[in-house]
Amino acid sequence: MTHYDAIVIGAGPAGAVAAHDLAKGGLTVALIEKHTLPRHKTCGGGIPTLTKNLLSLAEMGEVRDLSPDAFVECHVTQMRHTYNFDDPHLGEMNPDAEANPDDALALWMVQRSVFDNALAQRAAHAGADLREGLALKSLEIVKGKPVLVRAEGKNGSWEATADVVIGADGANGMTAKCVGLRKERSLAIAIEAEIPHTWGEGHPDLRPDVAHLEFGAIKLGYAWVFPKGDHINVGAGVFRPKRESGRGDSNVKEQLHKAIHDYLEMLGVPQEPGSLVYHAHPLPIWDGLDKIQTRDGKVLLVGDAAGLINPFFGDGIFHALTSGKIAARCVLEGDAKGYTKAISHEFKANFDAALRIAKIFYQWPHFAYRHGIKRPYATYTATKLLSGQVKFNEVSGRIIGRIRNAMRVDKKAGVVNNDEMPDAL
Ligand SMILES: Cc1cc2nc3c(=O)[nH]c(=O)nc-3n(C[C@H](O)[C@H](O)[C@H](O)COP(=O)(O)OP(=O)(O)OC[C@H]3O[C@@H](n4cnc5c(N)ncnc54)[C@H](O)[C@@H]3O)c2cc1C
Repeated sequence: MTHYDAIVIGAGPAGAVAAHDLAKGGLTVALIEKHTLPRHKTCGGGIPTLTKNLLSLAEMGEVRDLSPDAFVECHVTQMRHTYNFDDPHLGEMNPDAEANPDDALALWMVQRSVFDNALAQRAAHAGADLREGLALKSLEIVKGKPVLVRAEGKNGSWEATADVVIGADGANGMTAKCVGLRKERSLAIAIEAEIPHTWGEGHPDLRPDVAHLEFGAIKLGYAWVFPKGDHINVGAGVFRPKRESGRGDSNVKEQLHKAIHDYLEMLGVPQEPGSLVYHAHPLPIWDGLDKIQTRDGKVLLVGDAAGLINPFFGDGIFHALTSGKIAARCVLEGDAKGYTKAISHEFKANFDAALRIAKIFYQWPHFAYRHGIKRPYATYTATKLLSGQVKFNEVSGRIIGRIRNAMRVDKKAGVVNNDEMPDAL
């Protein structure tokens, strides 16, 4: 039976980057993916341009079709916000771009099928044994022995052993189930649809450099329209920090579908009801640090499998890449047992503070819209938070202070806010 130093389960961003770094570090690695690549992934595909720091772009550029030019479809520099499709606010991601050009203050828009495939091919190019169409079925851990990995695919079953298994198999990951990790997952729900689009049609702000966010139409969440090369990606998510998902809840589904439908109408690109193909997927929102490794360090979870979705923005690609790199680093340094500590160091304070702000923001969205999103420089701060240049725990005190002040101002002016102070304050 083949033995690898590491087997990575799932070739999304987290798994592909972990496999790449491990192979680059000289280890024997298998990267197994249940689908044949490229595969569709339900996602908006918006990532901070600072992602380039995680991807060794020079090296990607050396390989044809793997350079960012091949997978970045749009470069977003502005965010158009609305509340109940009204009161629009166009925010600059880098308001002082002329004086301080900084290409880190922007978003890349990618198609996940193309982006993920590029990352998986890069891992293979670095030496990982990429095996597509193979789904993990079980893991067997016996003290003092390597982990036995069993998978199945079209061509039958596959078995191999590894010193370490990295579970990068997403929100419904089998790896976690096999070893009893993350039993109490906090799942939110998001859906998206892709609509062919010719630039220049519809609302004047429907442009390849503008991302759209709508905050009033979804309870405890938001809707978006993201530009892509030849289409727009429109979606909506409910970020309920509870221990159940909105899946199967027909009211949630209806609300999300209606928001998407209304959004397209507002932007002057209406679609026939029933003509859209929706993709839905759970979002494993951060709800505090969970059990993301076995005690012996033989199995580590990364990305969505580890619940690393930012509870404020609902984004996960950047964090999937970051955690994949951290897992690989721990393994290469012979410190797989220290993985949870390393993840805690990177994410805990930031995401705990993001969760605290999210609870206020999504409960009082109109208040947050008027006093937060529409503030000068709010889009700039959001961009810095998205790319990790600023952490939520560094600004949460200031944000909460501003919320308190804004509430006092509203109260004096007689504005009704559901006026009690949010519990989270
Ligand atoms: C509607 C929606 C919109 C989103 N929009 C954004 C956005 O704009 N920006 C952003 O940053 N994040 C977004 N996210 C979140 C983002 O998609 C995830 O955080 C990200 O995909 C996590 O990457 P990952 O590598 O951990 O997991 P995934 O990308 O889910 O990859 C897991 C891989 O494992 C494979 N796999 C699963 N089970 C097995 C198995 N048993 N054996 C082998 N392989 C297996 C899967 O096929 C898949 O390829 C969105 C999510 C949703 C649902």
